[in-house]
Formats: sequence, C-alpha cells, structure tokens
Amino acid sequence: MFPHKTWWSAAAALILGFAPSVPALALEPFTHVVIDPGHGGKDPGSHAYGLVEKNLTLDLAHRLQRILTSKGITTTLTRTTDEFISLENRAKMADSSAKTIFISLHFNAHTDRSISGTETLYWPGSAKGRELASYIQSELGRRLVTRNRGFKPGRLKVLEETKCTAALVECGFISNRWESQRCGAEWFRQILAEEIAQGILRYREG
Ligand SMILES: [Zn+2]
Repeated sequence: MFPHKTWWSAAAALILGFAPSVPALALEPFTHVVIDPGHGGKDPGSHAYGLVEKNLTLDLAHRLQRILTSKGITTTLTRTTDEFISLENRAKMADSSAKTIFISLHFNAHTDRSISGTETLYWPGSAKGRELASYIQSELGRRLVTRNRGFKPGRLKVLEETKCTAALVECGFISNRWESQRCGAEWFRQILAEEIAQGILRYREG
C-alpha cells in the first residue's frame, strides 16, 4: 500500500503510463543500502487472507539484507522489529551521499481483488531513482510469473523526504487470493529478495 498516496500521483501514473527505456547515467558507486521495511507497530499496512503487510516487509528486508551483505554491501534497516517509525525518521536514516541508496519495501492491496502484480516507484524528476527503479522492476518482471506493472513516478512521502537515490518496491497484491498465497510463502519472498538484490547490483554496474 502506498504511504500517503495522493489522488494526483494516481492520476499522473494513469496519464504517464509505463516509462519508456532509460538512458544510461554515470556509474553510481554506492556501498551502502538503507532497507526500509514498510509500516510497523501501530501501522500494520495492508492486510488480507491472514497476511499483514508489516510482517511480510520485515521478513523480506532481512532476506534482502543477508544477500547484500554476502555481496560486500553494507546495510541498515530502518526497523528490525515490529515498531512504528515515522516516514520522516525512516528517510533520515539515509544520508544524502552518493554512497548510499534507499530501498523501501511494501506489499500492495486493492478493493478490486482481481488486481495483481509488482511495480517499483521513484520520486518524479529523480533520474537516478528512475534508473534504480527500472533495474529492480526489470529483474522482478523477468523471473516472477505475475503481472509486470512497470516502474513509475510516485509522489510518496518517504521518497520525497529521502535525500539519496531511492526506490519503493510494491512486491505484490495480498488482496489477490493467488498472489497472497505466494506472498505468504517463504520461497516466494526469497525470490523477491534475490531479484531486488540483483536489480540493485545491476544498477551499481550501470
Ligand atoms: Zn505499504
């Protein structure tokens, strides 16, 4: 679920649609990833079919952390337990240096239970954020048998507040019965973590 999603970001996504191919940018030699498990504590995020978003994002964050650590990339989690942290304070955990990138993890929900798929968002106007999102979404779209909803700009509070290059990954709709079964399975969250890590590493290679 989008944090602080506004009607105009939804409208912009509809108007802009999926972004076209991305021109290559200068190499981003980041060495540190701030991983942000969405929601927590009094803010459960989405919930459906017995799943609660805040629990899924925390598990996924730990999986992503293990993979990135094994690749020699240092990481920080914005939360390591079931606690509430404001979007501003999450963003503050990332500095503004080119050495750091910020990845926010979410699972989606919709009143229309037929909707499924993954998507990755970036702050509008952030060329590096757009490129990072494109790499992550391209990995998710390659291996996951679900709808590829693309990468797109999103005026989300946590992306606005984050000073370094940032992307927010929506890892699937738990309001869709078929996708909720996958999101609730450890094997699926492990694949999600591997694909997101692969996208991050590809982005670093340029
Ligand atoms: Zn969410």
